[in-house]
Amino acid sequence: MLGDMPRPERTFGGGRPPSQRPSKTCAHCGLPFTWRKKWERDWDTVKYCSDRCRASAKRRAE
Ligand SMILES: [Zn+2]
Repeated sequence: MLGDMPRPERTFGGGRPPSQRPSKTCAHCGLPFTWRKKWERDWDTVKYCSDRCRASAKRRAE
């Protein structure tokens, strides 16, 4: 049975030490960044380390 399979959305990030949190590379500046609480709902879609990078990337694409 699948009854005791861990549920990723519940174990993701929260409560874990920073070193075990997921991380990504910013699509704009190329620096690695780590999961943050404010991204817990849309981490899958986060591409940039900050609003500033997101804004810059968007501006460059236009
Ligand atoms: Zn960045």
